[in-house]
Amino acid sequence: MHYYDQHMHTHFSPDSVETFEHYLERSAGKNLITTEHLDFFSTEQASDDVIPDFDGYSAEIERLNQLYGNRILKGIEVGFTHPDKERIQKFLKDKDYDLILMSIHHNGKYGFMQLSNDDVPLENQLKEYYNLMLQGVREFKNANVLAHFDFGLRSYELSVAELRIVEPKLMEIFKEAVQQDMALELNTRSMYRYGNAHLYEYAIDLYRSVGGTLFTVSSDAHVVEDYELRFKDAFTMLREHGVDQLAVFQKQQPTFVELPQNVSAQ
Ligand SMILES: [Zn+2]
Ligand SMILES: [Zn+2]
Repeated sequence: MHYYDQHMHTHFSPDSVETFEHYLERSAGKNLITTEHLDFFSTEQASDDVIPDFDGYSAEIERLNQLYGNRILKGIEVGFTHPDKERIQKFLKDKDYDLILMSIHHNGKYGFMQLSNDDVPLENQLKEYYNLMLQGVREFKNANVLAHFDFGLRSYELSVAELRIVEPKLMEIFKEAVQQDMALELNTRSMYRYGNAHLYEYAIDLYRSVGGTLFTVSSDAHVVEDYELRFKDAFTMLREHGVDQLAVFQKQQPTFVELPQNVSAQ
């Protein structure tokens, strides 16, 4: 089996208008999985809950699977929050997702990407963000992948030395993830659009140091042009850090596939 991108969005997410057909054209010969947003917001945030239309999504996939040789799998990106953990599980129950990503997107007051050092000092952001992530990996045990572990830092410019302030916390998070067979995602949008590749170099080693073997490489594409965004560079980085396998998820179970040797540069 070929490795395939495992984090992308279509018009079934409110922040994308992309179509399955465009991704299908780009992914010929490979599986295709989209991971549409589920996010519950608190009343303080004046933001409507984002709940994927599962029936519409399933119907469209079923229709396209007949036309495109059953290549499409079902995925979801869950923005985990402790107050909503039961609503999240209620939504997931009885749904045949192949892949569940866990993301920490907001803290019940604001979205983490809206902030930078001018609003919240880096150290405070690091502490709050990774406390919530630790709570997430402990409480959301059926998630398959820890997505964009640096999401809350995308608006900050920080060095690995600064990220090390929370190394004990990160180790706890990764240990917990390893125990639950939760993969570490290399989010190429974070790495190369938000300039956080160096933080991923550090995270790969840290996750491996606590026994982690499950890695995914994903573009977080919201438009087809970003499909497999700079995968070649991420594969090279993994190889340089001693990783030679990636994980793909079907029916929420991981399978190892070989780290691709030759991919076209994007
Ligand atoms: Zn996300
Ligand atoms: Zn996403």
